[in-house]
Amino acid sequence: MEGNGQPEVNIGLVGHVDHGKTTLVQALSGSWTDQHSEEMKRGISIRLGYADATFRYCDGLEEPECYTVEEECADGSPSEPLRTVSFVDAPGHETLMATMLSGASLMDGAVLVVSANEPVPQPQTEEHLMALDIIGIDNIVIAQNKVDLVSSDQARQNYEEIQEFVEGTVAEGAPVVPVSAGQEVNLDLLIQAIEEEIPTPDRDPDANPRMHVARSFDINKPGTSAKDLAGGVLGGSLVQGQLEVDDEIEIRPGREVEEGGQTEYVPIETTVRSLQAGGETVDTVTPGGLLGVGTGLDPSLTKGDALAGRLAGPPGSLPPTWQSFTMEVDLLERVVGAESGETVDEISTGEPLMMTVGTATTVGAVTSAREGECEVNLKRPVAAEPGAKIAINRRIGARWRLIGLGTLTE
Ligand code: GDP
Ligand code: MG
Repeated sequence: MEGNGQPEVNIGLVGHVDHGKTTLVQALSGSWTDQHSEEMKRGISIRLGYADATFRYCDGLEEPECYTVEEECADGSPSEPLRTVSFVDAPGHETLMATMLSGASLMDGAVLVVSANEPVPQPQTEEHLMALDIIGIDNIVIAQNKVDLVSSDQARQNYEEIQEFVEGTVAEGAPVVPVSAGQEVNLDLLIQAIEEEIPTPDRDPDANPRMHVARSFDINKPGTSAKDLAGGVLGGSLVQGQLEVDDEIEIRPGREVEEGGQTEYVPIETTVRSLQAGGETVDTVTPGGLLGVGTGLDPSLTKGDALAGRLAGPPGSLPPTWQSFTMEVDLLERVVGAESGETVDEISTGEPLMMTVGTATTVGAVTSAREGECEVNLKRPVAAEPGAKIAINRRIGARWRLIGLGTLTE
């Protein structure tokens, strides 16, 4: 797998706002996910901040000093690349839980960032951990950040609180690495933990390529003449197979068309015109990591995330599009992130739900609810395999709250 320099694994950065996710990504990758300059990267990074980092190894040094992101080792010798990873920097602001959930479907593992100078857990620490639990992301490293701000006694106390908090969750047993993202302390130990806990998943390179589209945009400056217009761009991640320039792809669900008062979605077909991965323009992309796909599409079709949440792959290879579906439902015991810790009521017929399926977020109305199962009618359809996991959110007060996990049955 190693060697082509393209990112091969997606690692989510999750945790409460201001605990240092973006600072940590910056320290590991040397790029600030919140402010990429180049337009295509910028487009992908705004809502799903991302940055690539190459982890490297120093032959002559002991663990953990042998792990670095620098090309020169502490002893002056050159380091060897181990692998390139993509960090998906989930926003910590609570209204953006839907963004975190759609990002989570791209994550192969996660670093949960917990600030050492605040009581554990803060609301989004809990909410994001529950989301990892629900989506089944169990390769987790906990970064106990900002240790430069606390005494060693406080750090130990906070460490105990973290251990207690993750007990019985998907993060139980995950390594807790004390770091200072701001002062770049212990990053070698963190890289070592990531290397050990978040392996590159086995992916079939010979399978049909399948891309989860997380973003889509128009990269043209206003006023560009028609003959100079670049085609629409898709941003997302390849979960299997390889994609090449000149490949024909289909995008599902495609485009909304009105016919005789009926709204229908027709798949869109186009050609891959260019590919970007690991910050480079390439001819072929392999699974893992975030990538940009330049297409032959009219950019008005892709602007403003119009195609976010879609799947792309060879024509005829994609799973069905669902306007309504039945899902098995596993409800949580209590509402995650709610201050009062209220219990989750059964889903009832007629209620609206917000569901995240892959990178797609869609609202639907429950048309029939039985215990452990319900049928929903979607405002906007999704493409997904039967068996797909669905994060189910209910409107509670002013916002959507995660209440359970669905499995698409038919
Ligand atoms: P995010 O919301 O989780 O992405 O948090 P940011 O990375 O934006 O960091 C929030 C604030 O904490 C910023 O002012 C950072 O400079 C600061 N910060 C991040 N990491 C550290 C650290 O290790 N030590 C200290 N002292 N401050 C930090
Ligand atoms: Mg941030």
